[in-house]
Amino acid sequence: MGKSARAGIFSYHAEIQPDILAKSIRGKVTALYLSERSIQKVSFPLNGLVIDGVQVNRRSITTQILDGQLIIPLKAILGKQIIEISYHGIPKRGLVFGPNYVYSVFFTCNWMICDEAPGIKTDFSIDIIVPKKFITVASGDFISKKSEGKKLVRHSWKENRPYSSYIFGFAAGEFKSASSKLGKSELRYLGVMDDKSSLLQKFKDTARMVKFLEQKSGVPLPHSLYTQVLVPGNVAQEMTSFSVLGKDFIDPILTNPQEDWAILHELAHQWWGNLLTCKSWEQVWLNEGITVFMVAAYKEERWGKAAYDKEMEIIKKRYQRAIDANFDVPLTYKGEYPGLQLQRAIVYSKGALFMDALRKEMGEEAFWSGVQKYTRTNVGRSVVSQEFQKAMEWASSKKLQVIFDKWVY
Ligand SMILES: [Zn+2]
Repeated sequence: MGKSARAGIFSYHAEIQPDILAKSIRGKVTALYLSERSIQKVSFPLNGLVIDGVQVNRRSITTQILDGQLIIPLKAILGKQIIEISYHGIPKRGLVFGPNYVYSVFFTCNWMICDEAPGIKTDFSIDIIVPKKFITVASGDFISKKSEGKKLVRHSWKENRPYSSYIFGFAAGEFKSASSKLGKSELRYLGVMDDKSSLLQKFKDTARMVKFLEQKSGVPLPHSLYTQVLVPGNVAQEMTSFSVLGKDFIDPILTNPQEDWAILHELAHQWWGNLLTCKSWEQVWLNEGITVFMVAAYKEERWGKAAYDKEMEIIKKRYQRAIDANFDVPLTYKGEYPGLQLQRAIVYSKGALFMDALRKEMGEEAFWSGVQKYTRTNVGRSVVSQEFQKAMEWASSKKLQVIFDKWVY
C-alpha cells in the first residue's frame, strides 16, 4: 500500500486461538497505523472483549475504556506505529461454535479488535491455532501450517489485497473436504455433516456460476482458492475468499436444482461487496441490491426467462412490504430504519428492482457493458452510487439522472 495513501490503520495481523468447549477466543491483533497528522489517540469498539494488554511500538502502555471503546493514546508521532492488542472473551455475536467446529459471521469486530467502518480497506493476515485434526479456511490464501506444541497447529492465511474488516473471517473444525478445479483456481468445499460426494453433488454448479460472474463483471474470480463451508442451520455469510452456507438453504438443491440462490448470492459478493465495497452503510445497496439482481440474472441464463420472472416476482413482494408500511425510501436513505425487514425490503429488494429497471431503460448491451465498466474501474475500491451512475452513463447513449433520482437519491 502506498505510504501516502492515507492516515489510519493500513494493516491487521490477527493471531487467534478459539476454545471450542468454552465458546471463547483468545487473540492478539497487530495493527499498523500511519499518522500523517498529530493524532493523539486511536479507538476500537470492544464488543464485550476483555483487554489483557496493549503495546505501542513494543512498549506497554496504559489505555482507557470509555463507552465500550478501547482508547489507545498515541504520542503524536508521525509515520508508522505498531499497535499490539492482546484480548480474550466470549463473543456475544460474530462467532458460531458447534461441537467440533467454529466459524465467523457478521461482524469481525466481535471476535477481533478492529475498526468496523466498511470504507476502510486494509491488508490482513491471520494465524489460527487449532487442534491437529482441524481443517481451516480464512480470508486470503493459505500460507503455512506449523506445529505449536504437541497437540496444536498454527494455520497461517494472508490476503492478497486490502479489504474491509467486516468481511475478514475464518472457519475451523473437523470438516470433511472436497475440491474441484476451475482453470487455475481451486473450488473447495468443507462440510460438518456432509461427506465428499454429498458436497460435490450440492455445489456442482459452482464452476458454472463463477464463469457467469466472471463474464458479467469482466473481472476474474479474485482468489485462486474459493471455499464454501456447509454448516447446520440457516446462515449465509460472505467473507473474502470464502462463504459459510447453512444446510437449510443448500440442501433443497437435492430435490430442486433451481434452489441455488444462496450459493450464487454469496459467490457474487466476491465481486460486489468484497472487491467493490460500499463506502458507508448508506451505500450498502451497491453490495446487496446488485447481488440479489445477479441471482436473478444467473437464473435466467441457467433456467430460462421464467426463472428470472419468478425471482423478480418474489423480490417485488418483498419490496411491497416497504410500500405497505409507507416506508418507500431512496436506496441511499441516510436515516434509521424501523427494522431489519424493511431495511432489507429497500436495500436488497428495491436495489435489485432498480437494476432490473435500469436494464430495461438502457437495453441489454449497454446495461451489461455498464456493469462491466463499473466493476472493472472500481476493483479494490470503496464505492458510492455516483460511481455506479457514472459507469452506467458511460455505457448508455443518454443521461440517467432521472431514473437515478427516482430510485437512488
Ligand atoms: Zn448479501
